[in-house]
Amino acid sequence: MVEPQRVFRFAPSPNGELHLGHAYSALLNLKSAREAGGKCLLRIEDIDTVRCTPELEKQMLEDLEWIGFEWDEEPRRQSEHFAEYQSSLDTLWERGLVYPSVLSRSEIKRYVAKRDAVGEKWPRDPDGSPVYPGNERLLGASARNSILNSDKPFAIRLDMNLAVDAARYEWMESGSFVSAEPLKWGDVILARKDTPASYHLCCVVDDALQGITDVVRGKDLYYATSVHVVLQELLGLISPSYHHHDLILDENGKKLSKSLASTSLRALRNAGLSPQNVVEKMQVGLRCSVFRCW
Ligand code: GLU
Repeated sequence: MVEPQRVFRFAPSPNGELHLGHAYSALLNLKSAREAGGKCLLRIEDIDTVRCTPELEKQMLEDLEWIGFEWDEEPRRQSEHFAEYQSSLDTLWERGLVYPSVLSRSEIKRYVAKRDAVGEKWPRDPDGSPVYPGNERLLGASARNSILNSDKPFAIRLDMNLAVDAARYEWMESGSFVSAEPLKWGDVILARKDTPASYHLCCVVDDALQGITDVVRGKDLYYATSVHVVLQELLGLISPSYHHHDLILDENGKKLSKSLASTSLRALRNAGLSPQNVVEKMQVGLRCSVFRCW
């Protein structure tokens, strides 16, 4: 039997300068795709149309070409596909799995600080943010409509308890099944009044639409996969195989950030480094050995 062609993708957000960690992720995707005789796609995750700018996108594409990343099809730009995300969100509305929420981040922080102050350790999600404490999921139709029709900001949240009734709880990670823990995330945000889609929603919709068979991305997104598999189940989408790779850390053992200029590809290039030097720096950042890729 002929195996279907495998499809990989690198999915950066042009909201800052790419750094060594992005270079590693991009090149690992490319290498994995080439070894599998598959395709490697580029997806531009620019739903945050304020922080993601055309200039940063242009710079990102130049940096990717410079380090030798290649993509096999026209890149998919998420900001051009809001209607598709909206239609997936509509499916969840129809199934009664999402609800509008006006509780702001600062209100949540204040509420949780009060609980913490009386010694009740409020649960944090895997990213360290307080789990949504509200009960707006219980609002009736008319209260929901008045939120939706008001001009105040609101978010659309997934009712995770209802959702997991319908969902399965595992995914394929580097060849073995692992258990998902979606309840640890609580009622995640899937859209906002002004942005009809969140990262979680766009990511699963696009992975399915682009026929992605293999998601290779950093370990910082490992726990988000629990949300992704729930959405895949609810929306009837095929779940790809995942491999969450090690992160390149700075000398203090911290994750690299887009605001840290010293590891940006642009800065390294301007300092006279070659793409090969960047690969060598990546190996040092990875403590050399775990991946025998280069
Ligand atoms: N856009 C995300 C980032 O830049 C990556 C998303 C993914 O690979 O699923 O961190």
